[in-house]
Amino acid sequence: MADRPRFGPAGVPHMFRLKGAKLVDVPKLLRIEELDAFEYAAVRWGQVPQMKREDAQALREEAKRNDVLLSLHGSYFINLLGEKEVFEASKRRLIACAQAAEWMGAYVVVFHAGFYGKNGKTEALKKCISAVKEVSADLKSIGIENVKLGPETMGRHSQFGSLDEIFAVCQEVEDTQLVIDWSHLHARTGGGLRSAEDFRKVVVAAEEKLGTAAVKDMHCHFSKIEFTYKSGERRHHILDEPGYGPEFEKLAEVIVEFKLRPVMICETAVQDVDAAKMKKMLAKAQNKMGSQ
Ligand SMILES: [Zn+2]
Repeated sequence: MADRPRFGPAGVPHMFRLKGAKLVDVPKLLRIEELDAFEYAAVRWGQVPQMKREDAQALREEAKRNDVLLSLHGSYFINLLGEKEVFEASKRRLIACAQAAEWMGAYVVVFHAGFYGKNGKTEALKKCISAVKEVSADLKSIGIENVKLGPETMGRHSQFGSLDEIFAVCQEVEDTQLVIDWSHLHARTGGGLRSAEDFRKVVVAAEEKLGTAAVKDMHCHFSKIEFTYKSGERRHHILDEPGYGPEFEKLAEVIVEFKLRPVMICETAVQDVDAAKMKKMLAKAQNKMGSQ
């Protein structure tokens, strides 16, 4: 959990890869860019951890040395709302991700809960709550104590993960982490995040439902996003791309106003560069509105 607002990339930045950097070099390289969070991308993982324990532990050491807070994005191949077989396989994938998160000291596994499929909305919510409870109990039973489960707000209408659904899961299941993907929320609501007031409403609702600590420590994803009214999210865009929302400056105002300390993970194509830009925008808002 963050002691201050923190910023970092989703996955290893492309420039780091081009320069041939190893995973263990990432925290040091982020530090040079004045970033202090990193979301390891386990997004293509199957049912066992796809990294060695010693590599995860080496990353943990370097992250600690460079004061970089780690999180992990779980496998895309998870659908907790599927039929029994799909559910069981999804559960194993999520647990594999949590295992690696525990090794590397990542505080949360962020994941996409699944698709409504044949489930009605009420049934989907019930299923999701019971599934996340089950996974949480499984994690404890195998000694994974320090990793929270973070179901994320999703951008497509076919996906479980409206703001209210995520609030409900976090309310019902202990040891969950509130994860707001602001671009997904913007897409899902047909471009609903325009003014600072739009962002403020989300923060106020989160505080009402989950309490002050949960809202202050929210984990966030941010990018600009293209969407259609019919199905929602289409694709992510970089911050400098004109014509797309949401605008980070508006969220920055609300972060200052509510003294939030989110972990802000940037998911654009230039994820480290844009994370550094967001950090600067927040500093500007802090200067303008009086520092936190
Ligand atoms: Zn995600």
